[in-house]
Amino acid sequence: MQNLLQNLNPEQLAAVTLPPQSALILAGAGSGKTRVLTTRIAWLIQTGQVSPAGIMAVTFTNKAAKEMLTRLSAMLPVNTRGMWIGTFHGLCNRLLRTHYRDAALPQAFQILDTQDQLSMIKRLLKANNVDDEKYPAKDLLYFINNAKDQGLRAHDVEAYEPITRKFAELYELYDQQCQREGVVDFAELLLRTYELLSRNQPLRHHYQMRFKHILVDEFQDTNDLQYKLLKLLAGYGEAQGGALFAVGDDDQSIYAFRGANVGNMSAFERDFHVKNLIKLEQNYRSHGHILDSANYLISYNAKRLGKNLRTDQGQGEQVRVYEASSDLEEAQWIIEEAKNLMADGIPRSEIAILYRSNAQSRVIEHALFAAGLPYTVYGGLRYFQRAEVKHAIAYLQLMDNPHNDSAFLRVVNFPTRGIGARTIEMLQGAAEQYGISLYASVPYMTGKAGSSLGAFVKLVEGARFETQQLPLPEMVRVVLERSGLLTHYANEKEGADRVENLEQLVDAAAQFVQEEGFGQQAPAHLGPQAQAQAGELVVSEDGVEILDADAPLPAVMSPLSAFLSHASLEAGDAQAQVGQDALQLMTVHSAKGLEFDAVFITGLEEGLFPHESSSREADGVDEERRLMYVAITRARRRLYMSFTQQRMLHGQTRFNMKSRFFDELPDESLKWLSPRVQGHWFANNKKTTAWDDAQFRNAGTDNKIAQQITQKSGNGSGWRIGESVSHAKFGEGVIVNIEGGAGAARAQINFGSAGMKVLDLSVAKLERL
Ligand code: ATP
Ligand code: MG
Repeated sequence: MQNLLQNLNPEQLAAVTLPPQSALILAGAGSGKTRVLTTRIAWLIQTGQVSPAGIMAVTFTNKAAKEMLTRLSAMLPVNTRGMWIGTFHGLCNRLLRTHYRDAALPQAFQILDTQDQLSMIKRLLKANNVDDEKYPAKDLLYFINNAKDQGLRAHDVEAYEPITRKFAELYELYDQQCQREGVVDFAELLLRTYELLSRNQPLRHHYQMRFKHILVDEFQDTNDLQYKLLKLLAGYGEAQGGALFAVGDDDQSIYAFRGANVGNMSAFERDFHVKNLIKLEQNYRSHGHILDSANYLISYNAKRLGKNLRTDQGQGEQVRVYEASSDLEEAQWIIEEAKNLMADGIPRSEIAILYRSNAQSRVIEHALFAAGLPYTVYGGLRYFQRAEVKHAIAYLQLMDNPHNDSAFLRVVNFPTRGIGARTIEMLQGAAEQYGISLYASVPYMTGKAGSSLGAFVKLVEGARFETQQLPLPEMVRVVLERSGLLTHYANEKEGADRVENLEQLVDAAAQFVQEEGFGQQAPAHLGPQAQAQAGELVVSEDGVEILDADAPLPAVMSPLSAFLSHASLEAGDAQAQVGQDALQLMTVHSAKGLEFDAVFITGLEEGLFPHESSSREADGVDEERRLMYVAITRARRRLYMSFTQQRMLHGQTRFNMKSRFFDELPDESLKWLSPRVQGHWFANNKKTTAWDDAQFRNAGTDNKIAQQITQKSGNGSGWRIGESVSHAKFGEGVIVNIEGGAGAARAQINFGSAGMKVLDLSVAKLERL
């Protein structure tokens, strides 16, 4: 036990060894919150206060859950199987699988990812002749998810406006459709669990008694429904229930746009009469300049619970700031700096390149590819979301649950087998008429349509029958072949990658079977037989149908069902593919909780970061600032920031001003790499220094780049893009573009409230600021 606790500071030690009551650990980035949470689990078990089965821990991503389990297995010589560690979605999936009957779900219910959900909504709008200009599918998607995140069913929505009424009506139809198909969306996993537990008292009591300790990481980003669920499990207002141990950082609350409510922290303190509130202020992650930058920046936010961070690691190096002429040049600069870092011995996987919007990654990726540097993108199109993989998954889904209409429509005519749009329309008509799934409607079809659809059903049934006795990876292989997918892509001109991706699915299945501990001998039965083979549900003392507490999850599911859930849940996880020796590209949102030796924060421009959408919301810029705080605090030793004078985004060239966040960072912690910037941008209105090529070269940047930039900005007008100017009539402004050469140059200038003007530079009386 000594081992477990010996590397903790006094506050951490106090937090880890708190008595079994509800507690809130409020602490800044890198102060060891996640470490404390993990160590507390190990300590509780090691001191015999709870068995592994009495632990529920909630993490923000599947990857974080895996990491926590790995750590715990290393710390503890006990079987960690019985612990429930996962994301809210993963844990709810597990609960609903175990109690599918009570939750009124088919045993092989399937999970819709956001993409499937959207296509289902589009079908629903079409089937109901709803004008999708007036009621766009994406708006309805948002409406439904938002309502569910708040715990509201269609009839709970307060619908005063006609549009809300219509949306609520469609929400109701959507839910009915999901139920018919045996599918649930991500938000439904939570809502269904919440409803199940609130209505079913014996079941609720069972879990309240079982989970003596519920521990939640990243608590600041829980939404209303998640908090309500935690309250149920922890027995709020009831006689029994475990202790809720929450760790979080209000300054890192960055998911308000998805319904996260940082107010849950104070609500928790109040609701659970939290007496144990511990703050951790020692940061173990970052060097001084990095931490100073984070502290300084976040102090510009008004509503904070208040805490600071200090480090013993020394100031380290300053934050390097670079102004690029364009996004292309920004990418080149990143590559040069990354190469320097690697030459210093920093592994590629310890270098992260962060951006605010996914769209920014294209240019960076392209440059990395051209430079031959391996990289991984999180949050892009992940493996399980690729078209060919989704097609293969759809066949497997149909074998497991033929009533999944999304899966049916995806592959009924893929690869093409002569089933036309007309046939599908007729089939949809029949399904609508009888209120059944497409699959179940096939027998009602006659003639040519009937026979071609019949052949498809036969194909699916045949594959199911043929693979019944096979282990999961074998099953996947047979399906890839029988479906015709492999042949289809092999015949495609550039299908080699896709064939490779499909073949990887066999490996993914093999890895899954191994990691989840499905016995090698156990045949991958489908349907109810699997349950009998793998482990019976038993009735517990309190009359609840449960699994043996130590039984692994798969006992309630066939390996195929488990694998399909895994695929859907992982498709929704922004951090699915960490750990390769490659540069790490990701949005700031998906960097939460992670740390790297070196971090680049790119695109620090007004409109991009802070994002333009933030100006429309009350707390918008504060939320962006928290996001910037998250970005800064990912870095251990080196931090870089960059912005550009112009960039292509969504097909437009934009000229943005540098981010306001630069004015909110401590001067002494920044090192400006481009000297022209120094004179110009410093907040205290120092005079602009003219563009100085020689100085720029001295700053150590690649000569070729320097020349390119000189050519670009050397328009001979004597002015440059980004300069602040003043005009007698229009006031102060910023030059956003310059056209034409010396003598005939015209500048496009943003005068703020006076608007955008184009002025002839040989005539206009402009002053430098
Ligand atoms: P975030 O807010 O970013 O999620 P966090 O508060 O969860 O951060 P951790 O990730 O738990 O912080 O810890 C940050 C780093 O500091 C980790 O590398 C961790 O191993 C290390 N660390 C935490 N506590 C100590 C300690 N007492 N001694 C040495 N290293 C520590
Ligand atoms: Mg953490």
